Amino acid sequence: MRILVVEDSQVVSRVMRHLLIQELNCEVDVAPDMLSAKELLDQHEYFVAITDLNLPDAQEGEIVKFVLAKQIPCIVLTGSWDAEQRARLLQLGIVDYVFKENRFSYEYTAKLVKRLRRNQSVKVLVADDSMVSRKFIRSLLEQHLFQVIEADDGISALETLSDNPDIKLLITDYNMPRLDGFGLIIKVREQLSREELAIIGLSSDSDESLSARFIKNGANDFLQKPFVHEEFHCRVLTTLDALDMVTRLWEQANLDYLTNVFNRRYFFNLYEEKLNVFSQKKGALSLALLDIDFFKKVNDTYGHDVGDEVLIEFSNRLQQSFGQHFTVARIGGEEFVVGFKGLNVEKSYALLDRFRMQLEVTPIATSKGPLNITVSTGVSEFNFDENVDELLNRADIGLYEAKANGRNVVCIAQVS
Ligand code: GH3
Ligand code: MG
Ligand code: MG
Repeated sequence: MRILVVEDSQVVSRVMRHLLIQELNCEVDVAPDMLSAKELLDQHEYFVAITDLNLPDAQEGEIVKFVLAKQIPCIVLTGSWDAEQRARLLQLGIVDYVFKENRFSYEYTAKLVKRLRRNQSVKVLVADDSMVSRKFIRSLLEQHLFQVIEADDGISALETLSDNPDIKLLITDYNMPRLDGFGLIIKVREQLSREELAIIGLSSDSDESLSARFIKNGANDFLQKPFVHEEFHCRVLTTLDALDMVTRLWEQANLDYLTNVFNRRYFFNLYEEKLNVFSQKKGALSLALLDIDFFKKVNDTYGHDVGDEVLIEFSNRLQQSFGQHFTVARIGGEEFVVGFKGLNVEKSYALLDRFRMQLEVTPIATSKGPLNITVSTGVSEFNFDENVDELLNRADIGLYEAKANGRNVVCIAQVS
């Protein structure tokens, strides 16, 4: 990712460049005037341009139009606060107008760029029966690089949501035909929590109780029409930041810090529930316990850091082979489990043995060169009324047998 900073003051461009690199780990080019900015814009693709308005060879903000004509998002960072100019530039389609006051202005700008990068992968659904209003909201969202989908009433919003489970934010009007904003939110909340889908309610109604009712019905926030550009973006950004925070907390609690696969706690929570359901439904389920062979030797020979590299790559391979359909978790140092929901032990054995053979012949690249690693595996099939500990204990007996049989094999644990 590449960012252009157009700024004639070296002090400012240095600070901005430093913060951008720190926050986004990206490439940053600096142009001290309009001419060099034009040259750079011809040479490279930029994700965003951060521009001053007053440049030695273009003192009236000409650079902004030039950047926007190239379809590059533009953030204006200026030392002169001019309300009229600000309104005009926002109208032209700049992302934001930031007043250079102190260090916080630069930090704000770097954070804004980071959000723009995130927004590209965020889908937003706009439900409003007024086309004018929908188009206006769409244009605001697109300035901030969101992916936008529209619906013209509550019923079509529900359909769109079920077709696009990856929608993160719903912005909904109150008055709509067929199903209004409240009805829509109530229906949506039967399926999706505030953490799974954020909702912002809109209304042009002057009834002040609407905002409270929106929130009580399950909206995360509320906005009164007409709203100004910045008010809208502030609400959207705080709502999404809160969602990100919840996601981060969930990940910290449920993912392994080193390898990013699920951790022990997630696995046990999931499988306690799963086995209860399975006892009732009588479906097939098997569980594998995998343990890397002679892993201590890797640490002793090449150091703990290389050991970590091996664990990370081993997890990636497990995740690639099984993660899409099954649950992969790290439950101990070099011990992993895979829960094969829907597979009997013969089927999971076949998959595990293929994985074992592939691992044996595909060395793991580390900073100390390629290493050959093998794995021993025990696998057990779910026995009705068994709990997760019992199932895992039997897989462990299979693993013990695999180690005793010379390692680099998969052993099926018999039902006791
Ligand atoms: P076996 O074939 O019998 O499984 O032998 P092994 O050496 O793999 O098994 P052992 O249980 O004796 O050693 C496991 C080692 O894994 C010991 C421990 O220091 C190391 N280990 C545990 N967690 C981590 C980790 O997070 N990073 C690294 N680098 N090593 C770890
Ligand atoms: Mg081991
Ligand atoms: Mg071990």
